[in-house]
Amino acid sequence: MGFEKFGQVSFAAQTKAAAFVEYLEKGELRGTKCKSCGRSFFPPRADCNFCLNSDMEWFEIKGQGNVISFTEVNYGPTGFETDVPYTLALVDFDGVEVFGRFDKKVPADRIKIGMAVKAVVNELPNGQISYEFLPE
Ligand SMILES: [Zn+2]
Repeated sequence: MGFEKFGQVSFAAQTKAAAFVEYLEKGELRGTKCKSCGRSFFPPRADCNFCLNSDMEWFEIKGQGNVISFTEVNYGPTGFETDVPYTLALVDFDGVEVFGRFDKKVPADRIKIGMAVKAVVNELPNGQISYEFLPE
């Protein structure tokens, strides 16, 4: 997937948004898995775009992931202008690709392809709940 999608992904468009946030509030980052073909999705999907089944179950994304790619963002989208710079990364968690931000305390020059990270749920200053990556 391209990095152009980062920062403007709408979980609402993927449905299941309410449950996703409820899990975050419990400190769990979750995706959905198709009960029919077994494919996993992040962000969570309400139905499988491979076999078109809509019998999905939640699974937790936990443990160690490995950085697939990353990019430093120096120009924020509208509403995030004061937030830059930050680093966005695509991380593989046991075959599930999860995109997100690195903790801002981690300098971009410390981040490397293949580096081990974990996803940590965090609360943003505006009260929104999100998640970020930290070196494992
Ligand atoms: Zn499926």
